[in-house]
Amino acid sequence: MKEIFSNPSFKLGVLGGGQLGKMMLAETRRYDIYTVVMDPAADAPSRLASNEFVCGSLMDYNTVLDFGRGLDVLTIEIEHVNVDALEVLEGEGVKVFPQPRALRIIQNKAVQKQFYKDHQLPTSDFFTFENAEELHEGLKKGNWKPPFVWKAATGGYDGFGVNIVRTEEDIQNLPNQAGLVEAFVPFEKEIAVIVARNENGEVVSYPVVEMEFHPTANQVEYVLCPAHISPEAAEKAKELAEKTIAAYDLVGLLAVEMFLAKDGNIYINEVAPRTHNSGHLTIESNFTSQFEQHVRAVTNMPLGSTDLRIPAVMANLVGDKGYSGPVKYEGYRDLLAMRGVYIHLYGKSSTRPFRKMGHVTATHTDRAEARAAAEKAKDAIRVQSR
Ligand code: ADP
Repeated sequence: MKEIFSNPSFKLGVLGGGQLGKMMLAETRRYDIYTVVMDPAADAPSRLASNEFVCGSLMDYNTVLDFGRGLDVLTIEIEHVNVDALEVLEGEGVKVFPQPRALRIIQNKAVQKQFYKDHQLPTSDFFTFENAEELHEGLKKGNWKPPFVWKAATGGYDGFGVNIVRTEEDIQNLPNQAGLVEAFVPFEKEIAVIVARNENGEVVSYPVVEMEFHPTANQVEYVLCPAHISPEAAEKAKELAEKTIAAYDLVGLLAVEMFLAKDGNIYINEVAPRTHNSGHLTIESNFTSQFEQHVRAVTNMPLGSTDLRIPAVMANLVGDKGYSGPVKYEGYRDLLAMRGVYIHLYGKSSTRPFRKMGHVTATHTDRAEARAAAEKAKDAIRVQSR
């Protein structure tokens, strides 16, 4: 095994150069690990902290293949990448984590959902279809009545590609594409657990977080840690997350999004095989951040402690409504004076309404105080255009 630290001949490649990559690169810089990053945008947030930056398409077979050759370890910060190329690279001896076969399952929501059923992992009832005709047949056959949830198999993120079907009229407006229909879960809370696994099979998981959604944008507004749920529910969520990473036999990080239903049951919603928005607060609130953990997991280093140092609440900073173009931040001076509040800007040059531009994390021994501080900070800072 090559030396990993301070050895430019050990190369860690990353597909995708957005904010997740940027925050991970803070850790590779700290460890002095040589990184090579590829992203289609020349001004991607990761361009500055990487050792080498390549501009290229993540979905193009030859581009990904050329990029991956000569790397020791190749990882991702986005799952929409060319998996065929990753499989070839894996066959040629590049360590690709998360593994391409897991990515293939996760990339398609219908296949992912079927995976949980096949592995007896609890998830809401569903059926899959290839087009609108099959969708309507399936609805009739299964006697499905609103409310239920329609999801596109591919192409959706951050709530796009998801339709909560509430009326008969909503059914008529569903798009004609492959996807799945699943039972609506009347949930108490949306929760998530990030779990990490290295090649040696060591597994650690983070404390459960809960999400609070923006009332209209269908986007996570706050992430709170620890989740205010019973110790039994927290234990169940942790066990489910650890079972899920084992079922995928995945090396790297897995963010497992779950519903805590009103009846006390926990159902998997979906997973992301990488660092995740629900883990941003680990930078300040846990002994090892998710970004450091991801680097450790994919390079087969011992995993770090996930214990909570201090409760925290993270608020996403998104582009203000009515502003598009080169970004300008206002109102952050007051925020910098707040104790235990941390600002993260992703380095995206232009804003648009609801685009994720950064986040703030507020820490406090009392979670309610952290929640109040996060809201105050988020309201103080304005993401506008010049
Ligand atoms: P995305 O990949 O776009 O984040 P999700 O599958 O997480 O999509 O769905 C987005 C949101 O829609 C969830 O966070 C949740 O609020 C709601 N949702 C999705 N599936 C269900 C379900 N089966 N029951 C109730 N709400 C759901």
